[in-house]
Amino acid sequence: MFIERPPFLYRMYFSEALWRVPQSEKCVYLTFDDGPIPQVTPWVLDVLQQFDVKATFFCTGDNVARNPGLFNSLRANGHQVGNHTMSHVQGIHMNTPDYLRNIEKAHDLIQSPLFRPPHGFMRPSQFAAIKEKYTTVMWDVVTRDYSRNLNSMQVFDNVRRYTRNGSIIVFHDSLKSQKNLIDALPRSIEWLLENGYKLRTL
Ligand SMILES: [Zn+2]
Repeated sequence: MFIERPPFLYRMYFSEALWRVPQSEKCVYLTFDDGPIPQVTPWVLDVLQQFDVKATFFCTGDNVARNPGLFNSLRANGHQVGNHTMSHVQGIHMNTPDYLRNIEKAHDLIQSPLFRPPHGFMRPSQFAAIKEKYTTVMWDVVTRDYSRNLNSMQVFDNVRRYTRNGSIIVFHDSLKSQKNLIDALPRSIEWLLENGYKLRTL
């Protein structure tokens, strides 16, 4: 299911979530999941600053609680933040009240109207409850920066191959992604800008 561009049926399953922003102009949305962590997130912020672009960070509540200063610097630098649950839990492995409580705990810290479910997995009943309060943001391009089987050029190729107007692109400010990110992130941003894409926040 988790190929670089999510299949049509999967999109239809959560058709009220945001997968891609309809755009007639060349414009994309970089997103970073699973941070903020001191080993990776400050470096990501530096790269974004070098290119003078903004992004959206889907944070776990646990990482926000551990790194409050870093979390504050995301907003202070003009980036958007979103809720990625407290402890990176998957809805399909939990009952709905527990899942919603986990999200609310993260909301106390993150205070964002945006939500992204870890791994994209949640039950329809959970999605129905979540959409009362949050905009669920899925994605149009999965870079697979976290994959041990891909090198940074292959991650960059995913960006180049699958990006289109309005794409929501997923990277991770995580330890697993670090080795690919270091090369693939600046390369990807450079390519997007050279190809006339504006980078916006959600
Ligand atoms: Zn995640």
